[in-house]
Amino acid sequence: MRLRPVLVVHYHEISLKRGNRPLFLRHLRRNVERALADTGPAAIEQLSGRVLVDLEDHPAPEAARDRAARVFGVASVTLAYRTPSTLDAMKALLDRLLEGRSFASFRITARRAFKTYPMSSVDLNRALGAFVLARVPTRVDLEHAEQVIHVEVLPAETYISLDRVEGPGGLPVGSSGTVAALLSGGIDSPVAAWRLMKRGCRVLFVHFHSVPYLPATSQAKARALVETLTHWQYASRLHLVPFGEIQREVVLSVPPPLRVVVYRRLMLRIAQELARRAGALALATGESLGQVASQTLENIACIDEAAILPVLRPLIGMDKLEITTTAQRIGTFETSIEPDADCCTLFTPRHPATRTTLDEIRAVEAGLDLERFVAAGADGAALETFAFPAAGAAAIS
Ligand code: ATP
Ligand code: MG
Repeated sequence: MRLRPVLVVHYHEISLKRGNRPLFLRHLRRNVERALADTGPAAIEQLSGRVLVDLEDHPAPEAARDRAARVFGVASVTLAYRTPSTLDAMKALLDRLLEGRSFASFRITARRAFKTYPMSSVDLNRALGAFVLARVPTRVDLEHAEQVIHVEVLPAETYISLDRVEGPGGLPVGSSGTVAALLSGGIDSPVAAWRLMKRGCRVLFVHFHSVPYLPATSQAKARALVETLTHWQYASRLHLVPFGEIQREVVLSVPPPLRVVVYRRLMLRIAQELARRAGALALATGESLGQVASQTLENIACIDEAAILPVLRPLIGMDKLEITTTAQRIGTFETSIEPDADCCTLFTPRHPATRTTLDEIRAVEAGLDLERFVAAGADGAALETFAFPAAGAAAIS
């Protein structure tokens, strides 16, 4: 018997109440397509309320399922198998799917999408349940079944599935527009970028480095982080901005306690210019309130004032522990904790001012050629591109 696998991809209808349903679905479908691109032939079809992926000639349906289960916007993915809607055909398929499986308890959940099918759902549950009991040493448990067997009778055929995996939820990447994220080599900013991807943003990465004043480690870390994060958005751009020369000039006139805030304001201005060129509508950082000296409300207010675009701070109310747990879950943590000298440590004191005022900052910035810095940073930035899966996904939209 030849198996005919299909993925049934469900999404939360609730996220569609915003009147942007077609946009949501277009991005979801395209992202599922990209996520599966290198796994094998997969034909994607939009049905009402779900996306169907035909894996008839696919060599590894489970691998395809796991990929689809990581696409933002997906609530769950079911790997199902198609069969004609006769009871004999359903039993034959079940027989095959049960091979090598054991479970202490089970339940059949049959649904008929068209009510003129000759058997009721209850009859189907009974008939197929008896069939399973005759084959597997197990028992029926309607409340807490270890194995749920879903049977869905559609007009043309029936789907039977034994596993459903949870998706990550959220919104499909691309459906919320583009954000330029300031990515250091630290723990927080990759998590911030990931959270925005989860809310449907395509993230453009901007990293500031101080080569040759500091080693190139931070760039290597930024690359590794972007590579990991690209698993969720399939294609990424990373701008590596040379910041050391700008910092060298800043230290000539800005007193040490104010340098971190001045650096940050410059970073925002340069990132904003790169965002403008790429059509991004907002900036993002990994700041969390009170975590370090530069992240007091006073300093955040001062930093914010440098940008016209909104600065999104998805981690603002999160504790370090929550952020760290997420970093571990998404796979960025190990890279983030590799030793490295962040560019903000260059020419700055151990204890920066925690309550900077805008007047102080404006006074010191008056002595700086900000426009030239922004142009030098944005024009001097090196652009690198990343794709996942590596093959066939090189095009960046
Ligand atoms: P992270 O863990 O993300 O490095 P942090 O807790 O070290 O954050 P800060 O050093 O104050 O906090 O940095 C605050 C934010 O400023 C970072 O989350 C990041 O968005 C941005 N940032 C800092 N340094 C850089 C850099 N070298 N390149 C790009 N963005 C940076
Ligand atoms: Mg840092």
